Amino acid sequence: MQIDLVTIFPDFFRGPLDYGILRRARESGLVEVAVHDLREFTRDKHRTVDDRPFGGGEGMVLKPEPIFECIEKLEVAPRAQRDEAKQSVILLSAQGQRFNQALAAELSTMDQIVLICGRYEGVDERVSEQLADREISIGDYVLSGGELGAAVIADAVVRLLPGAVGNEKSTRQESFTLDSAVVDGGPTSTCGSGGLLDYPHYTRPAEFRGMKVPDVLMCGNHDDIRRWRRQKALEKTVRNRPDLLAAVALTDDDKKLLAKIQRQDENDI
Ligand code: SAH
Repeated sequence: MQIDLVTIFPDFFRGPLDYGILRRARESGLVEVAVHDLREFTRDKHRTVDDRPFGGGEGMVLKPEPIFECIEKLEVAPRAQRDEAKQSVILLSAQGQRFNQALAAELSTMDQIVLICGRYEGVDERVSEQLADREISIGDYVLSGGELGAAVIADAVVRLLPGAVGNEKSTRQESFTLDSAVVDGGPTSTCGSGGLLDYPHYTRPAEFRGMKVPDVLMCGNHDDIRRWRRQKALEKTVRNRPDLLAAVALTDDDKKLLAKIQRQDENDI
C-alpha cells in the first residue's frame, strides 16, 4: 500500500509514523508513506498556501491550486476510475463521514490512499467537490489541523494490512470488529469482539499491590475463561457504548449474560 500525506507541516509526521507496527510495516515494505509539503506546489515567492475567505468571515482558508497540483503530481486516476484503481483521495474534515473500524477495514483494501490535511478555517470547497473522493472526520470535535486525523487513519489502516501485526487473529477480535474470528482451540480466539468492545486483559504479576488477577483466568478452564471474557466484553459495551449492541449478533448465552448484567446494575443503584 502507498499512503500519501499532503500537509503544510511535513515535519509533523516525524513522530507518529516512526514507531511500532507502523514503523515495522514501512521497513518491511508493506506500506510506503510519502509526505508532501504543500508549499512546494506554490508559485509565489512567499509560498502562499492560504487566503482570506470570499464573503468575509474569520480566519484563512487553504487555497485550491497547491492541493490540486500536488494530487496531479501523484498521478492518481481520475475520480471516476479511482475505485477501480483501488485509490482513495481523502480530505480530513470535521464535516466528513465519521471514521470507524469498518472504514479502516475498507481503506485497508486500497492500493493507495491520499490524505489531505486542512488547516485554519478549512480547505477551499472545490477540493472536496472536485478532487477528493470523500471527507473523513475522526470524531465530533474540531482539531486545529488534519495532520492528527491523518496519522490516526494511517495507523488504524496499516495495522489491518495482512502481515502488519504478528498475530493476525488478534486484529480480528478487537473492539469494534464485526467479523469475529471463530477459530478452534484456546480461549483467546473464541470470545472475539463480534462488534463488542474488547474484554479486559491482565498479565504478570498475578497480584500487584494487593490487586489480584481474576481467579478464572488462572484456572486453565478454557470454557470458563471464554464465558468470563464474553461477559466482561458485554459489560463494558453495555456500560460504555450501548449504541454498539444494536449491530451485534447476540447468542442465547449472551442474552442471558446481558440480563445478568442488567440485574447487577439495578442492584447497584
Ligand atoms: N471550520 C471548520 C474547522 C476547521 S479546523 C469546521 O468548523 O468544520 C482545520 C482543519 O482541521 C480542517 O480543515 C480539517 O482538515 C482538520 N480537522 C478539524 N477537525 C477534524 C476532525 N474532527 N476530523 C478530521 N479533521 C479535522
